[in-house]
Amino acid sequence: MHKARIVVVEDEPAIRRGLTEALRLSGYDVSEAADGLTGLREATSGAVDLVLLDIMLPKKDGFEVLAELRRVCPTRPVILLTARGSESDRVRGLKMGADDYVVKPFSVTELLARVEAVLRRTLKAAEEVQLVRCGRAKIDLRRREIRWSADERADLSETEAALLKYLVSNRERAVSREEMLGRVWGIGTAGLETRAVDMHIARLRAKLKDPAGDDNAEAIVTVRSHGYMAGPGLTYEKGTP
Ligand code: CA
Repeated sequence: MHKARIVVVEDEPAIRRGLTEALRLSGYDVSEAADGLTGLREATSGAVDLVLLDIMLPKKDGFEVLAELRRVCPTRPVILLTARGSESDRVRGLKMGADDYVVKPFSVTELLARVEAVLRRTLKAAEEVQLVRCGRAKIDLRRREIRWSADERADLSETEAALLKYLVSNRERAVSREEMLGRVWGIGTAGLETRAVDMHIARLRAKLKDPAGDDNAEAIVTVRSHGYMAGPGLTYEKGTP
C-alpha cells in the first residue's frame, strides 16, 4: 500500500532532523525543507499526505506558505509547529485552514499522535464515498462495477476505479495529472508519462457513457493545463448500495 508522504518545513536544523528521523522510523516517507519557499514547492508537488509547517521561516513565513498552499491544494492536511505563548498564531493558523497544531517544544510521541490522528481523519473522509451516481448509472467503487439496469453493466479496471475514486475523494478541487500518477499508480512523478493518465481518463469516460445514449460528458471535467476534476455529472452516496 501507499506509504504516507509527509513534508517537514522547519528552519531549525536540530528540530527538522529530529522530526524527519522520528517520522521515518514510524514508516513515513519524509521530505524536508529549511525555508518557506522550498517548503511551498515540496508541499505542492504531487502526492503529499501531510505538511508539518513551522511559522517563523526564512524567505516565506508559515502563514504565507499556508495561504498559498490552500489556494493550490485546498484539502492538503497541515499541522502547524508553533511557538509557546503565541496563541494568536495558532488561532490565525486554524482560521486559515490548518488542521491542527503542536506547541514547541513538543515531544515526538505527541507529534506522532497528532500526525496519525490527522492522517486517519483524511483517509476516512477519502474512503467514505463508495457509491457514485452518474446519470441513471450506479457505480460501486468497491466492486468496481457500473450498473445502468439489471442487465446493463460494465466493470471498471482496478486503475479506472482507483482514478475515479481519487477524483471523487478530492471532488472539491482539480487534481493534476502528476498528482494522479503519484497517488493512483503510487510511483514518483519523474519521467513518467502524464499521457498515461489521459489515456485512462479517456477509457473511464468511454465506460461512463450510458448504453442508452447519454454520454455523461459532465462526469469528469478537464481542467486546462492542469488535470481533471469530478464534475457536476456525478453525485454521491455513502456506504454500499
Ligand atoms: Ca523557525
